[in-house]
Amino acid sequence: MPPPERAVFCNRTLNMRSIRAIGFDMDYTLVHYDEVAWETRAYWHVQQALLRKGHPVADLRFDPQLFPRGLILDLDRGNVVKANRFGYVTMAAHGVRVLPHDEVRRVYSGVWVDLSDKRWELLNTLFSLSEACLYGQMVELFDAGRVQGVAGYEALYRMVKSTMDEAHLEGALKAEIIAAPERFVDLDPLLVQTLVDLKHAGKKLFLATNSEWHYTRAMMGWTFDPFDGGTFDWRDLFDLVIVQAKKPAFFEQQRPFLEVVDDETTREVDGPLRKGAVYKGGNAHAVQEHFGCAGGEILYVGDHVFADVHISSQLRHWRTALVLRELENEVRAERDFAAQQHELDRLMAEKQQLDAEQAALRLALQRRDHGQAMPQEVALAASGIQERLKAIRAASDALDQRILPLVRGSGQVGHPVWGPVMRAGGDKSRLARQIERHADVYTSRVSNFLHLTPFGYLRAHRGSLPHDPPR
Ligand code: IMP
Ligand code: MG
Repeated sequence: MPPPERAVFCNRTLNMRSIRAIGFDMDYTLVHYDEVAWETRAYWHVQQALLRKGHPVADLRFDPQLFPRGLILDLDRGNVVKANRFGYVTMAAHGVRVLPHDEVRRVYSGVWVDLSDKRWELLNTLFSLSEACLYGQMVELFDAGRVQGVAGYEALYRMVKSTMDEAHLEGALKAEIIAAPERFVDLDPLLVQTLVDLKHAGKKLFLATNSEWHYTRAMMGWTFDPFDGGTFDWRDLFDLVIVQAKKPAFFEQQRPFLEVVDDETTREVDGPLRKGAVYKGGNAHAVQEHFGCAGGEILYVGDHVFADVHISSQLRHWRTALVLRELENEVRAERDFAAQQHELDRLMAEKQQLDAEQAALRLALQRRDHGQAMPQEVALAASGIQERLKAIRAASDALDQRILPLVRGSGQVGHPVWGPVMRAGGDKSRLARQIERHADVYTSRVSNFLHLTPFGYLRAHRGSLPHDPPR
């Protein structure tokens, strides 16, 4: 059995035997990067482009810890927020400065994060780390009146984002990665066997990446070649290879396929898609037709919460697996905190009992004041009630002293400021909600499917509900 952090976690029952085709995203799915190394270079390239545009960003430095995936940019206010599953904001930073609790309450009371509103930008992938850091830092420059030609926080974001888009497209950044993949790619020795098992079990495998062909070829070669024992080319594993897929449009529209001839040339596709060919663009509908599968017989595996998982499940009804590398750290950190969490739960239960007793006694006093009979279970004289209320207040204060450091510790699991990516306060995070709605399963890396096997059956948890009997 794999360690707990390497399991495949199930939201919706998935029988691998009924899956006939499996699609994979490439970046941060099949090919995992050292995100600090990759994002440091992405940040640097965007910083240089911003300098060329005349922005005073020379002194800024990338901080990979600043804003983890799952946080949400608030483009109205130049803030970065964490929200719970209802969209209620539990924490916020303006620029890079974390706001005190009172200010968060003041700014966000009555505001709910609605991810379909363009005010909010979820940090969907590990590629978002440099973008969020730079945005926060630029907000500070903007507030200081040092960013010219930008009307407000939203325009500032659009400017940072388009500069980021250019850096990903323009070539110099990816040329650096291709030139020294050993510095950027985190190889997984179990990956190839995982895919080989799936293929031998008769599943059709395909690659659908937004990356360009020359980059895909370099990264896939680097990732697969050391482990294939020289027995095959990575392309033999895949029935279709699709590059520059333009997800999410790939799932939303019926864009045509072009066949890639070489790095510079493509040609129109004449006739059905062919195994072994490399295609550019295209669409999910045609892929499904090609394999002759129902949507529920295709599993798509990717790391981008919106483009890979949300849209493919919602529009195409494909089964989905989200790759979330942060889980490994998070599950370990939760395990290390388990004893304290247990103590916290116990103290909270004690506090709840005191609260209930306090409420019952106050009601008894209220009835007495209105000349009504006191509830029978309150067998105390009025003076006794006052005494007991005083004792409850003291006990409750003493409990709070013990609860406070544990709550603080629980809010720092996995990240010293923002806490666990899947939790917000005492609830699930907005990211966790997104994952439970749209990802049938989620896991830290593709090779965790090795333990599941092509014949595995994942059953959804029954889940817990507030009215469940206590355990
Ligand atoms: P995939 O994950 O394999 O679909 O590929 C992701 C592709 O998107 C890579 O080629 C990245 O360079 C590119 N990418 C990631 N973030 C951005 C961005 O913010 N703007 C433009 N391209 C991006
Ligand atoms: Mg990806």
